[in-house]
Amino acid sequence: MILLKGAEVSSKLKAEVTAVVSAMEGHIPTAAIVRVGERPDDLSYERNAMKKIASFGMEARSFVFPEHISEEEFEREFRAINENPEIDGILLFRPLPSQIDSRLPERMIDPRKDLDGISPINSAKIFAGEKDGFAPCTAEAVMEILKAYEIDPAGKRVVVIGRSMVVGRPLSMLLLNANATVTICHTRTKDLRAVCREADILVAAAGKVGMVTAEDVLPGTVVIDVGINVDENGKLCGDVKWDGIEDVASAATPVPGGVGSVTTAVLAKHLCMAAARR
Ligand code: NAD
Repeated sequence: MILLKGAEVSSKLKAEVTAVVSAMEGHIPTAAIVRVGERPDDLSYERNAMKKIASFGMEARSFVFPEHISEEEFEREFRAINENPEIDGILLFRPLPSQIDSRLPERMIDPRKDLDGISPINSAKIFAGEKDGFAPCTAEAVMEILKAYEIDPAGKRVVVIGRSMVVGRPLSMLLLNANATVTICHTRTKDLRAVCREADILVAAAGKVGMVTAEDVLPGTVVIDVGINVDENGKLCGDVKWDGIEDVASAATPVPGGVGSVTTAVLAKHLCMAAARR
């Protein structure tokens, strides 16, 4: 079984991005990373994103607001970041606290600065198969892994478990745009195992520890594990139970070290694209 390593995909993206950045004649693409509150997940993602953007030769500025910020004040602050000409791209951590309507930043964000594809304009572009939209970074990270390992989804049966706006849905559209035959599964899917066993490529993005096992996988399947969970021992793990997977799958992504590490590289790539387009 081939281990699909995120680090290798990330270094390929780094080479592409640094070449474009060095041709920008002194302009350093700059991201705003916007966080409300102190959620540990956000803090950890923020650290990784800042590190990755710096290692790709670009800049990231962090904007932090208190958990209890009012909707009006958040709107004012977010508008200022959005309109700041020094900012090429924005990453906003979500979910936001309940006093802020999540649709507010989704509709406000300049689609050209929307690094994680939260604007309905970018969703529509991904849906329509237009090339100049920004997809959510995690969905695109899966596509980058397939591309880097020369796994062409065209004509293949791909099963995606999960239908969220962050992963499952946009990823299904990207796969469809790449000519895959896509089945989207969710909590109401009947006989999930039978559906999984039809897959040439199986993507687990449910956020459920060990929900995909070797029995869900037919010999030769490519298994992509998007899940980032914590098991009962406090260890980071995906949605795929690893025991026995090596014996059936032809290739699989590890957790950690798989999709997650490519997600921040795609974020950096989007920042470079956003700056280049401006
Ligand atoms: P979500 O909770 O919004 O969506 C989960 C989806 O999975 C839902 O559509 C649900 O219908 C489906 N689902 C849940 N349990 C299921 C089951 N038993 N059978 C079939 N379908 C089921 O989660 P999300 O934001 O899409 O994230 C999914 C996972 O991906 C999480 O573990 C999350 O931490 C991880 N994630 C990873 C990255 C990354 O960079 N690798 C980024 C975002 C999310």
